[in-house]
Amino acid sequence: MTIPTLAALLASSVLFAPAPGAPGAGDPYFPKAGNGGFDVASYNIALDYRPKGKRVAGTTRITATATRDLSRFNLDFTGNTVRSITVDGKKATFARSGGELTVTPAAALRKGAKFTAAVTYDGSPSTRTDPSLGRNGWIPTKDGAITLSQPVGSATWFPLSDHPSDKALFSYAITVPKGLQVVANGEPAGTTRRSAKTTYRWRSEQPMAGYLAMIAIGRFDVRDGKSPGGVRTITAVDPTLNQNHDAFHRDTAQITDWGTSVFGRYPFGSSGGILDNVNVGYALETQNRPVYPGAADQLLIVHELAHQWFGDSLTVRRWKDIWLNEGFATYAEWLWSERHGGRSAGAIFDAAYKRAASDKAWKIKTGDPGAKNMFGGFPIYTRGAMTLHALRKTVGDATFFALLQEWPRKFAHRNVETADFVRLAEQSSGRDLRKLFDAWLYTGSKPPKP
Ligand SMILES: [Zn+2]
Repeated sequence: MTIPTLAALLASSVLFAPAPGAPGAGDPYFPKAGNGGFDVASYNIALDYRPKGKRVAGTTRITATATRDLSRFNLDFTGNTVRSITVDGKKATFARSGGELTVTPAAALRKGAKFTAAVTYDGSPSTRTDPSLGRNGWIPTKDGAITLSQPVGSATWFPLSDHPSDKALFSYAITVPKGLQVVANGEPAGTTRRSAKTTYRWRSEQPMAGYLAMIAIGRFDVRDGKSPGGVRTITAVDPTLNQNHDAFHRDTAQITDWGTSVFGRYPFGSSGGILDNVNVGYALETQNRPVYPGAADQLLIVHELAHQWFGDSLTVRRWKDIWLNEGFATYAEWLWSERHGGRSAGAIFDAAYKRAASDKAWKIKTGDPGAKNMFGGFPIYTRGAMTLHALRKTVGDATFFALLQEWPRKFAHRNVETADFVRLAEQSSGRDLRKLFDAWLYTGSKPPKP
């Protein structure tokens, strides 16, 4: 037997040295996003919605595990009024500064301890405006509200660790006055009707990044069915939009099935989509159920449903790798076009490659574009897709299409980074691909034609 040294004892469990958790997850693009010192397992968001003033009141319950001894910890939360916070049922003290909510539990938390923080609050959540993204977070609509929160908008309506590196399970219990409905991520988990109010419960069975959390409050025509391939498909359409719900539902179901044929097994318990009267100027791949601003054509549905594999199931660990979301979703559009009588991916690549080498759009590095360029149309979406096409030309169709299934299968429901993809591409092709990825992702100039 070995006798543990004093140092080993101190390093293990004897020494209890609680210190504050970090106010950010360490992402240079959003230094205050997410938090350090704990890992969230689940969010339970119970809110009562009142149309007058579009107010909410309720409690978000967060279960988490301390990853170090914690004297206090932070959550991301803006606006609203925090009424009380408990940790494991005991009253905690708290302070707010900027978007940081600092919670000091009655007793410090030991590393490895599971705890539940319950934050009770009310208010009229404010919408975020981002110069490059437009309106996000909590967005009022004519008949209610909807949440569209990439990259850091969720903190406008519930307290969380708002960084994609901390995926967690979500459940919602949203109470609305009679006549309104709630559609959200995951699957319906029961409805309780009282005389004047109804509580809608939704629950996701798979982990989700905080920015994908979505509730839609309003009047909706809802369809709940199965795709021909057997994937549960729930769509909702605001009836005032005069959109063809049959067509939207059918396209969503068929494109989900097409996705499984190209990317492999659908990663979640259900697919779907929402057409809401919300003119933000973009669609968002909110998990299970992307939101479209008023209308959606097939290519847009292809893009947002491809994100269910790339972005939602496989989630970036750092925002600089956003091309792993947008490059793949854009390339899905190219593949859809190629297989449905449109231009081939090669023709779309060639057209994009015509952009002059002197064009400053080539200067932005796709694999690390900087926070202000992370949604750049050409550098992230188009050049990201071009990167995949360059890879396809280099390794051949058989290896490439096997990789398009192996990547989301191997890393399902996990965080990923570009290095994971490069490694897998090199393993499956048996080739050194560093030069290719360096030229396409990390060089601020036009790469040579593959
Ligand atoms: Zn996208």
